Amino acid sequence: MPDAGARPTYDVVVVGGGIVGLATARALLRVRPGASVVVLEKAQEVATGQTGHNSGVVHAGLYYAPGSLKARLCRAGERATKEFCAEAGIEVKEIGKLVVATDAGEAVRLEALGRNARENGIEVEDVSAARLTELEPNVTGVAALHSPRTAVVDYQAVARALADDVRARGGQVRTGAKVTWIGESAGGVDVMIDGAEAVRGRRLVACAGLQADRVADIAGVETKVRIVPFKGEYYTLPGHRSGLVTRMIYPVPGEGLPFLGVHITPTVDGRILLGPNAVLAGAREKYSRFGVDATDLKDSLGFGGLWRMGQKHWRSGVREMFNSLVPDGYLKEVAKYCPSLRSTDLVGYRAGVRAQAVRPDGSLVDDFEIVSTERQVHVINAPSPAATAAIPIGEEIVGRVWG
Ligand SMILES: Cc1cc2nc3c(=O)[nH]c(=O)nc-3n(C[C@H](O)[C@H](O)[C@H](O)COP(=O)(O)OP(=O)(O)OC[C@H]3O[C@@H](n4cnc5c(N)ncnc54)[C@H](O)[C@@H]3O)c2cc1C
Repeated sequence: MPDAGARPTYDVVVVGGGIVGLATARALLRVRPGASVVVLEKAQEVATGQTGHNSGVVHAGLYYAPGSLKARLCRAGERATKEFCAEAGIEVKEIGKLVVATDAGEAVRLEALGRNARENGIEVEDVSAARLTELEPNVTGVAALHSPRTAVVDYQAVARALADDVRARGGQVRTGAKVTWIGESAGGVDVMIDGAEAVRGRRLVACAGLQADRVADIAGVETKVRIVPFKGEYYTLPGHRSGLVTRMIYPVPGEGLPFLGVHITPTVDGRILLGPNAVLAGAREKYSRFGVDATDLKDSLGFGGLWRMGQKHWRSGVREMFNSLVPDGYLKEVAKYCPSLRSTDLVGYRAGVRAQAVRPDGSLVDDFEIVSTERQVHVINAPSPAATAAIPIGEEIVGRVWG
């Protein structure tokens, strides 16, 4: 290992101060009060990655394959997030959501979604076209599925409160601390921060989001997958359209890529968001429309799995790209179920970038994926609904760290 000098030693070093890393540190300290835990976050603040750039939806868990980690941990996370927010004084609005079918084909897929939700033990209610119009006069469809427990929250606020709780339990949260080297030995896991400072953990947990594959690489942990960044661009609506809907309105998800489609979300701070779409991104951590990072682009283009994924999903890829460049195309996706919207209503808003693990054969890793060695646990795939599920993901990781 690089020259380290005297190294402070912790029971657990957590890499990544997004919502998953912070929830994990808190879970570790809840199970073993008095343990020494440090969270190392490369940015100057916590929760500036995916956690700070998402839709803010507390998912109920309609979509996920019964028996999957996503299904189990999302359902538990919906409750745990609301409980934590109640304790921490963070506002959660349980406004519910409607998934809307706009033709007979979508209605068949909506029925299957309803069966899936019920199999996952999620409360949902079938809604007729007439009832849909009563509930949401600006929304049209042939049928809908109502999920009353789906809610909205500010996940950055949740993550900051988790960080406060970690500190209150005696843990440390260090920002501006980029992990550049990790070496596991029989005695522990050595970690270099910014190539200059060494610390040691008896165990290490990595929750590095968009950098999960690279952090696994520097730790010598084999994963076989690469992170492919998918940008999600949002629009917002001008003030005079703020009464457009009172619930979240989602389309029936398409077959193919695992994204939920462009939806309408009234946020907890009273804004209405449209989005996100899902466009291949030229950078993992840049949010402007044409943001490119040479290393990220080179990594993506040099990964055979990306090209194989492109062969399978090129149609939706081209459509997403077109809609990203042409607001009328984007609008068409939403106007299907909300016909009164006009392109003049769309006000450009921010974007987020999703970390999606892709296998060399081009298939997308659907479930959460966590890989362990003797002393390390790496969260390799934690896309949506991992903000909702962060608290139970943390509890799951504690079981893997300390058995
Ligand atoms: C557009 C979009 C919409 C979404 N909508 C929702 C939603 O409505 N509901 C929901 O439940 N989920 C949603 N998600 C998913 C959710 O945001 C993520 O699943 C969740 O935030 C993942 O948290 P994380 O802690 O794993 O990752 P992140 O929040 O990305 O945190 C990882 C952290 O690791 C740090 N890091 C990386 N490398 C290093 C290193 N070498 N050293 C130190 N630190 C490092 C990064 O700086 C970052 O802060 C959405 C995601 C996106 C992008």
